Amino acid sequence: MRKLCLILGDQLDRASPLFKDFDPQHDCLWMAEVTQEATHVWSHKQRIALFLAAMRHFAAELTVKQYPLHYLKLDQHHAASLGEALAQTLQTTSPAEVWLVRPGDYRVLLEIVATCKHYNTPLKLLSDTHFLSTPGEFRRWAGERKQLRMEYWYRELRKRYNILLEDGKQPIGGNWNYDSDNRKSFPKSGPTAVPAPPNFATDNITQEVIRLVNARFPDHPGTLDSLQWSVTPVQAQQALTRFLDEALPQFGDFQDAMWQHQPFLNHSLLASSLNLKLLNPLEVIRKAEERYWQHRAPLATVEGFIRQILGWREYVHGLYWQHMPDWYEWNALDAQHDLPAFYWTGNTEMNCLRQAIGQTLQHGYAHHIQRLMVTGLFAQLYGVKPMQVHEWYLAVYVDAVEWVELPNTLGMSQYADGGRMASKPYIASGKYIQKMSNYCQHCRFNSAKAVGADACPFTTLFWDFLDRHEARFAAHPRMGFMVSNLRKLSATERNAIRAQAVSIRA
Ligand SMILES: Cc1cc2nc3c(=O)[nH]c(=O)nc-3n(C[C@H](O)[C@H](O)[C@H](O)COP(=O)(O)OP(=O)(O)OC[C@H]3O[C@@H](n4cnc5c(N)ncnc54)[C@H](O)[C@@H]3O)c2cc1C
Ligand code: SF4
Repeated sequence: MRKLCLILGDQLDRASPLFKDFDPQHDCLWMAEVTQEATHVWSHKQRIALFLAAMRHFAAELTVKQYPLHYLKLDQHHAASLGEALAQTLQTTSPAEVWLVRPGDYRVLLEIVATCKHYNTPLKLLSDTHFLSTPGEFRRWAGERKQLRMEYWYRELRKRYNILLEDGKQPIGGNWNYDSDNRKSFPKSGPTAVPAPPNFATDNITQEVIRLVNARFPDHPGTLDSLQWSVTPVQAQQALTRFLDEALPQFGDFQDAMWQHQPFLNHSLLASSLNLKLLNPLEVIRKAEERYWQHRAPLATVEGFIRQILGWREYVHGLYWQHMPDWYEWNALDAQHDLPAFYWTGNTEMNCLRQAIGQTLQHGYAHHIQRLMVTGLFAQLYGVKPMQVHEWYLAVYVDAVEWVELPNTLGMSQYADGGRMASKPYIASGKYIQKMSNYCQHCRFNSAKAVGADACPFTTLFWDFLDRHEARFAAHPRMGFMVSNLRKLSATERNAIRAQAVSIRA
């Protein structure tokens, strides 16, 4: 064999550079389902099922196209990890080279590098052309700056790909960013005409995977009666069209809003398809842009959506690779508490957390503000060890792949990186949740109160956070006003908040 081409579970790219110069006479594709990918964090059943079902659909397509494929099914071999599975294949086939598109997970990269080295087989790493920028380009751009901000990387990429520009230079409408238009909450009556999420019929392949996952991983979090997530590029295209037609026009306005028993609202639900490479990000961006030019969606909404993919998605990808493996070590706020057990059950009196965690366990999904300003916010205010928060996020979302999950969790949501990713901690009291949702109306706590039997734990812990980190943030240009509000509280009030925070953690 000339080369063995590895395809990982999040590399189901039909346009992968692996297919260039692939010679079916001498080369072979390789895919493996291994237990460790489901257990190294305690993965949600739907996350495991989605990866396996999408891999098996891709394998079926490759077989129809008569590609030589070495596919190891979970229930048909005993290798626990990708390294062990690859070792078995290298022993039996002795390829001259192993080829691999750069993986999205540092741990996996190390494992494959070590295995190839052990078997003395050269490993060729190909650039991941699915992204719109490379880690090397990001590193060069970052190297010239004291402080990194997503906005400036986003502008670079807008210009490079000529997205929403006039004469190829200036942003349409005069502004690069319409974020301030994208933070509305719903009126008291709630959201109107929320589009139904995609719902694909499960075929035999997916049904077999569902049975396998329920049998092999019965104690893993989440439910798996059916699978609503796209497992093929065709389904991903249908999901994209549904989003563009039905949800995009409203997406921008209510991007940050939350509502009781509304898990999806106007969000695209496309992250898992993008991350498994069933959908191409540039295609998604161009199709969204087209809606603006066709006057079918307003500029602020289209720009807001494009910014998530061209801006945030590319930015976190660059940041992940720029700082691995240092990310694992950082704990800038010295957070030392364990993750509360209710993160795995949703069993808490705090309604906002019950809603966000409940839908996560049911669907493997919560939207950005639920992740950032409900589950992430609580963990940060509580002071949970960053790696435990990271492991939870990596486990429970169907779209979780480490390159995107880790910087979002450790950087944006927990400030464990001390501000490399975000200029300040994303902290707020329960009043933010009160403003952006109707969760508080259905909660036994009072978001305005920091002390007392009905005090909102978010509000108590918000003041407690400022109290604990007063010295650090007093002179911070964007946090100073919060600290000066803290300083208006009397010593008695501050003591009462500290005591209440202790009782919450107990
Ligand atoms: C603590 C935390 C953990 C997160 N973990 C993940 C993760 O494991 N996988 C993941 O894809 N996203 C993650 N995100 C980012 C974001 O929350 C999800 O991409 C989004 O909620 C997915 O839902 P959607 O497809 O409906 O997105 P939409 O709200 O419709 O947004 C459109 C697309 O933009 C991209 N996007 C939006 N925000 C971000 C962001 N901050 N970083 C990167 N891409 C973004 C996604 O591809 C998403 O599909 C995380 C955010 C936080 C705060
Ligand atoms: S009152 Fe506090 S705990 Fe209850 S839903 Fe509102 S923010 Fe969450």
